[in-house]
Amino acid sequence: MEETNAPERQLNFLEEIIEQGLSEGKYTSIQTRFPPEPNGYLHIGHAKSICINFGLAKKYGGKTNLRFDDTNPVKEDTEYVDSIQEDIHWLGFDWAEKHYASDYFEQLYEWAELLIQKGLAYVDDQTLDEIREGRGTVTTPGKNSPYRDRSVEENLDLFRRMRAGEFPDGAKVLRAKIDMAHPNMMFRDPIMYRILHAHHHRTGDKWCIYPMYDYAHGQSDSIEHITHSICTLEFDIHRPLYDWFIEQLGIWPSHQYEFARLNINYTVMSKRKLLQLVKEGYVSGWDDPRMPTICGFRRRGYTPESIKAFCDRIGVAKRDNIIDYSLLEFSVREHLNKVAQRRMAVLDPVKVVIDNYPEGDCDCNGANPVPKTEMLTAVNNPECEADGTRQVPFGRELWIEREDFMEVAPKKYFRMAIGQEVRLRYAYFVTAQSVEKDAEGNITCIHCTYDPATRGGDAPDGRKVKGTIHWVAAHSAVDAEVRLFDRLFAVEAPDDVEEGHTFLENLNPNSLKVVTAKCEPALADTDNSQFADGIARYQFERMGYFCTDRDSTPDHLVFNRTCTLKDSWAKIK
Ligand code: ATP
Ligand code: MG
Repeated sequence: MEETNAPERQLNFLEEIIEQGLSEGKYTSIQTRFPPEPNGYLHIGHAKSICINFGLAKKYGGKTNLRFDDTNPVKEDTEYVDSIQEDIHWLGFDWAEKHYASDYFEQLYEWAELLIQKGLAYVDDQTLDEIREGRGTVTTPGKNSPYRDRSVEENLDLFRRMRAGEFPDGAKVLRAKIDMAHPNMMFRDPIMYRILHAHHHRTGDKWCIYPMYDYAHGQSDSIEHITHSICTLEFDIHRPLYDWFIEQLGIWPSHQYEFARLNINYTVMSKRKLLQLVKEGYVSGWDDPRMPTICGFRRRGYTPESIKAFCDRIGVAKRDNIIDYSLLEFSVREHLNKVAQRRMAVLDPVKVVIDNYPEGDCDCNGANPVPKTEMLTAVNNPECEADGTRQVPFGRELWIEREDFMEVAPKKYFRMAIGQEVRLRYAYFVTAQSVEKDAEGNITCIHCTYDPATRGGDAPDGRKVKGTIHWVAAHSAVDAEVRLFDRLFAVEAPDDVEEGHTFLENLNPNSLKVVTAKCEPALADTDNSQFADGIARYQFERMGYFCTDRDSTPDHLVFNRTCTLKDSWAKIK
């Protein structure tokens, strides 16, 4: 992992709590956990939680467990379990221990019997609707269930029979017996167990009753001696109940702390919605480079370092806020600028012929002229001298970007125009003289002259040009499919929709454009295996950051655009 010399920053509120606890001797080391539910792929919000949990433990010499919160068998799957581990590792973190809430099912069950014996839990036969109705509202107290005063023996018997599979789904639940008039709705006899005859991805058909989140989470933390159970703000109203179960059971006292979840504009972050995008084919999969998932960002070319820098930069807040997508892209550019090698590729090619450049030799029978090739030296990464230089072939016929030429240059247009001298990067000064056009008036070829004395990109007489453009020699160019991504959603808050509308209506119809680019041959030699995550990342000079896609083969190169060099979106807004 890369060490950054970040300036000393103020402690965030979690660090303050920990340092205080340490200084008061409440604990001598800390233990955190990251508790994903394996019902989808991790997204950038999870990355924030991972950075906090693993980051705090690392900073204070503690440990972090990975715990799969797998108490809801219907939506969970081993595919998600696997991807979650892969994504955490890719981010550069490793857990001390790996656990599953389902490993604690037996213990949780025993504790439930204990609560029944203490008169603190009962079996309720009401339907879910009746239970909901009976809970009352924030302003009115709830009503006691008619089954609330069952004897301990009857409750034990019924709960055991629930476990034994005697009752169908929904026939009964186990509830904590607290206070149906409690001002915190969470305390109005919360459900602890429900009957669910469902196959679990780990426990198979062993169980047909499953614990609810509130009954499972705190106790799982307690079993693992988690000192700081860090979760997002919406769980603050659950905290008293979290404490209540631990107190009543008299078990190891874990504590919960809440921070503001990460929200980013122009995207959605709920797993349910991300799943819908995948299932209904709006994206190519969980790792579609437009997805806010960790694997999507990976495929897009984002680096773990840039995601971690972003999480660090936004800090840990106590109040909900929305972070600008540009800030994430800023972190990506900042890191890629340091590590990405430069290459030249032309995404929207138009042909240039340098009329006074020597014709090539001819091969033996004189039929196919072989263009004269000369090799020019290009710097791989001006930010990193150790990356050295490479040789780029140059020739009489070149490709340049269509937008880098105008027949008549308006003021401040310093690129190629008739009669206007311009530098070809690492090569020569050239001046456009004339164009050829097709029947529709589209330019098909630009004729130039060059100054041989400017080889390498500087004039010996010291004359200057104002523009420098990139190019690729036509004779040795290799084609590549380049996928140009834009934001998946066209509006800042895709979730903000009126009744009867869906976030899908806010999808950006132009979020993917595919072009065939002309690339310098070095791009065909990309050896992805030399990169830690099998992804080569480049800066295509002047065009942005790009990376190899997993669809890429030696015969058919595929690159994804990670981001442009500048924030073009900020201007549009
Ligand atoms: P979603 O609402 O997307 O389904 P979730 O909260 O149900 O997410 P979990 O798998 O339960 O997903 O989350 C695992 C951990 O990641 C939890 O501790 C949760 O608080 C945290 N987390 C989830 N989303 C975010 C977010 N946007 N920002 C910060 N932390 C998050
Ligand atoms: Mg959750």
